[in-house]
Amino acid sequence: MDILDSRSGEQGFELPCGLFKDGKILKHVILKEITGEEEDILAAEDVNGIIKLNRVLGNCIVSFSDVGKEQKPPKNDNAKKAIDASASNSDQVSIPLANIISDKQEIRNLVPELTIGDRIFILLCLRIISLGENFIFDTECSKCKKSFKRSIDLTTLPTKEMKDPTTLLYSLELPSGKTVKMRVATGKEELILSKMKINATDIMTKSLSIRTETVGNEEASVLLLKKLSLKDRNKMRDSIDKYEGGVETEIEIECPECGDVSVSDLDIGQSSFFFPSE
Ligand SMILES: [Zn+2]
Repeated sequence: MDILDSRSGEQGFELPCGLFKDGKILKHVILKEITGEEEDILAAEDVNGIIKLNRVLGNCIVSFSDVGKEQKPPKNDNAKKAIDASASNSDQVSIPLANIISDKQEIRNLVPELTIGDRIFILLCLRIISLGENFIFDTECSKCKKSFKRSIDLTTLPTKEMKDPTTLLYSLELPSGKTVKMRVATGKEELILSKMKINATDIMTKSLSIRTETVGNEEASVLLLKKLSLKDRNKMRDSIDKYEGGVETEIEIECPECGDVSVSDLDIGQSSFFFPSE
């Protein structure tokens, strides 16, 4: 995780995916720390969790750009002279302009277009700049059932770059011979998923259904995806791993009582992520 710039409550980060906009990949965000305003948004009841997330991200993203702070051209006198010699209006053309989006409304409109991986990454960064990198959470050993607290340095979670941020759509040939068209899930699909009635038995199918456009010649549906073989579905799941970028939230937890080591998914969406008990 790269922290590129730091000034009063604002920091720059490089996204694992980035937004593809007008031929440019906007990989860099400047974020500002969470205030009471966003705390109230998060605490609001009767509001869909994804809508809340959109509001918080819309408030806290200061800008998107294709050029990070570290990539600013060096102020080299010789280079400046060379540009001066070839341009009449030297002051305006000597430094290549970055594509920066800092208009509040435009940022709010772009938030649902961020990939789920980038949205989780930003949420994680907001937690780090607002409350620090140390996150303490309650957990329970799956073997001896003992409850204990565990802490993690959030900056150590590895990120995975998206393979090709210029396209959110891809085709996949399944073991059965069927071809599926799939998409990288964004905030729009995350909202659709949040509105589906989810029960434990079909969460996997619904997670696939928001990412699938067509199966063969048919439009994808939960019913159709349930009928696919396990081999086909595994291939689709592997492709999500392959094509989508984000943050690796699986961590190993060792029980202090019995020493059992289990792998657990860090739930960044839980309320204690921003409202820790200690
Ligand atoms: Zn244990």
